Amino acid sequence: MIHNFNAGPSFLPQSVLQQASQAIMNFNNSGLSILEIGHRTPLFESVMEEARSLVKELMNLDDKHEVLFLHGGATTQFMQVPMNLLNENETAAYADTGVWSTKAIKEAKLYGNVEIVCSSKDKNYTYIPKDFAISNNATYLHITTNNTIYGTQWQKIPAVSMPLIADMSSDILSRQLDFNSFDLIFAGAQKNMGAAGTTLVVVNKQILGKLNRPVPPIMDYQAHIQAKSMLNTPPVFAVYASMITLRWLKENGGVAAMEKLNTEKSKLLYEAIDNSKIFKGTVALEDRSKMNVCFVMDDAEKEKQFLEFAKQNNIYGIKGHRSVGGFRASLYNALPLSSVEYLVEKMKEFENSTR
Ligand SMILES: *Cc1c(COP(=O)(O)O)cnc(C)c1O
Repeated sequence: MIHNFNAGPSFLPQSVLQQASQAIMNFNNSGLSILEIGHRTPLFESVMEEARSLVKELMNLDDKHEVLFLHGGATTQFMQVPMNLLNENETAAYADTGVWSTKAIKEAKLYGNVEIVCSSKDKNYTYIPKDFAISNNATYLHITTNNTIYGTQWQKIPAVSMPLIADMSSDILSRQLDFNSFDLIFAGAQKNMGAAGTTLVVVNKQILGKLNRPVPPIMDYQAHIQAKSMLNTPPVFAVYASMITLRWLKENGGVAAMEKLNTEKSKLLYEAIDNSKIFKGTVALEDRSKMNVCFVMDDAEKEKQFLEFAKQNNIYGIKGHRSVGGFRASLYNALPLSSVEYLVEKMKEFENSTR
């Protein structure tokens, strides 16, 4: 068995992979593959409807919030959010907590003004800024709830008076939050809820329709809402993979159970790092992510050895991002506790062998 700690696309439950394979050969006993059915058939319409209603249920969303499955990854949302929400003369507030925020900021500047209300760039994004002010007239505040590359996570979501937008690509459905307090949430499916190719967007209808620029329908949230997320051919297979992953999540206790498991997994790994003489954590203790655990060694040669040792022991995907170095273990929902126990055991074994 391979223990897959990859940051994205990432580990999925065996049962999900089995159902997805089955659906490729013979979808719901239709004699057809999920890859060859029409998207405007009852066969697929029921997949899309179930995916959307599972999100509503798991996130406990009120009727103001609409659920969409779109194309183009979270990266498209960096553009689509300001294109739909920010007029040219207005100013949007952005929290700069890493590469993904930086990209979002760059896109927003194409549509209006941007005020960077806080940044942790001074320490290579190893912490989440705490005290910052936002001007009252900001059109919205954009935050990245979990910073995949650095391993930091907002533990306390800022309470603000303007609409709150969140990139939750790497911690969607991993912990209990008041999802209704957000006005727009987006997440590429490939990290915590399915396969690459679709992006979840949850949007409060009331923030839409205040724009004075025309938006092409394919980029227009209102057009997608009206079309029930079927404006054009949706990413059929990716939506299916998300739907069965969401079913798995519900069967396994929903968001509350995931939070408990993710807390347990991350605690185990952080304790191992803190008790080690060779492995070291990289971020502020209070901002540590439960999704992406980053750690390094002082000795570059030893780091190389550990990567090789990990590979030999069927540990996959723990090389750190090139901007941080060292290691990163991603502990998304589907990753079992036993994989983290295994990693911790191997880290200890390696440490003992290098003394
Ligand atoms: C991976 C990631 C993205 C980019 O997602 P794509 O689907 O590749 O566009 C954006 N934001 C965060 C926080 C991510 O982790």
